[in-house]
Amino acid sequence: MNNSDSDMDTNWLVADSRHVWHPYSSIGTDEPIFPVQSASGVRIKLADGRELIDGMASWWCAIHGYNHPVLNHALELQLKDMAHVMFGGLAHRPAADLAELLVSLTPAPLQTVFFSDSGSVAVEVAMKMAIQFWIARGVVGKYRFITLRNGYHGDTLGAMSVCDPVNGMHTLFSETLPRQIFVDAPDCLFGMNCTSESFQPMADALTQYSQQVAAVILEPIVQGAGGMRFYSAEYLQRVRDFCNERGVLLIADEIATGFGRTGKMFGCEHADISPDIMCLGKSLTGGYLTLAATLTTHDISDAIAHGEPGRFMHGPTFMANPLACATALASVQLLLESPWQETVKNIERGLRRGLQPCETFSQVRDVRILGAIGVVELEQPVNLKQLQPLFVEEGVWVRPFGRLVYLMPPFIISDADLETLTAAVVRVISSLAR
Ligand code: PMP
Repeated sequence: MNNSDSDMDTNWLVADSRHVWHPYSSIGTDEPIFPVQSASGVRIKLADGRELIDGMASWWCAIHGYNHPVLNHALELQLKDMAHVMFGGLAHRPAADLAELLVSLTPAPLQTVFFSDSGSVAVEVAMKMAIQFWIARGVVGKYRFITLRNGYHGDTLGAMSVCDPVNGMHTLFSETLPRQIFVDAPDCLFGMNCTSESFQPMADALTQYSQQVAAVILEPIVQGAGGMRFYSAEYLQRVRDFCNERGVLLIADEIATGFGRTGKMFGCEHADISPDIMCLGKSLTGGYLTLAATLTTHDISDAIAHGEPGRFMHGPTFMANPLACATALASVQLLLESPWQETVKNIERGLRRGLQPCETFSQVRDVRILGAIGVVELEQPVNLKQLQPLFVEEGVWVRPFGRLVYLMPPFIISDADLETLTAAVVRVISSLAR
């Protein structure tokens, strides 16, 4: 089949609709689904030839855009050596080089890297590390987690247990999920001062439960899929202090915030804190391949090495996949070689300017921007079935959820494309019933 044939051929969509699950969907749904032909730069090309400016970076991942020559080259080069080998008993350079680079970029106490294949698994690994650390230290009973409402940490059972109980559908899975401790999300938003009441729920939870709690787990500064809330750096600083005072570890889930999205390399940098365990994923490979990493300190890795059973009990089949590690290395280096701080600032300005008209719409509750993230929060949940085709007709790819229409474009987006993207969002939102 040549390209022009495949342009026309979307018969495979029948198989898709009969056999293939999509995220948060059901088989046989009548939700619109758009067949993709290819993607390059900031454009996703549909099978019918239409090109869409990508406002999602494939859920935070594609920071350099699609089909990037540097990432393609790194992947092809690695392919010549090996696509994959098991990681038990074998080592390879892409993993070692990537680990060294991640350790050099993240706060100094983080020194060791556990590679896994998705963000959810990186969170599971972080939770298991925290539990195993306390067992290794001989401290009994610390197996629970404190977390924030409106949080999101993934879809596997452990990760789900620390997702917002409402958004995370805890009632549906209540017989299965471990019972964690939830505190209200910070009321002091990004750039605002906190009051002593802002810290009280976390302080109270730590006072009451610290003997049962292995770690606090949170998304630093930006709560993503659980509500797209941006909260104060001061709050994060205080949580770090509380954890130290109460003998509880701090896990920072930087899966969405990592690699520049908020204007800092990592969200923790806004508060100048270092977590005990950090999770990375999503844009780690520039969105090319699925890879995640859980970083921790030598304190924790040493304790685990010297406790029972003397090893960390996790080992994924595709751990440190060489193609993914080589691509991640190229992606992180590409980011570091670029003027990414200025780029993200520029996108922030463009999002602010472009989305500003939404502030006057009565159907809009709030417009907020941080780094290369733009959020328009509506008064009512969107009807995705109705809205998604409208965005496509506008020539943009935007996928709202709940009451949130949000943008997180690839960093390579031009000023003109960003203007087109934000103007489309303004037009579509303005067309919604008030
Ligand atoms: N943590 C955060 C903060 C996330 O945003 C996500 C993904 N949306 C995850 C964990 C889970 O990552 P994955 O979908 O790769 O399992």
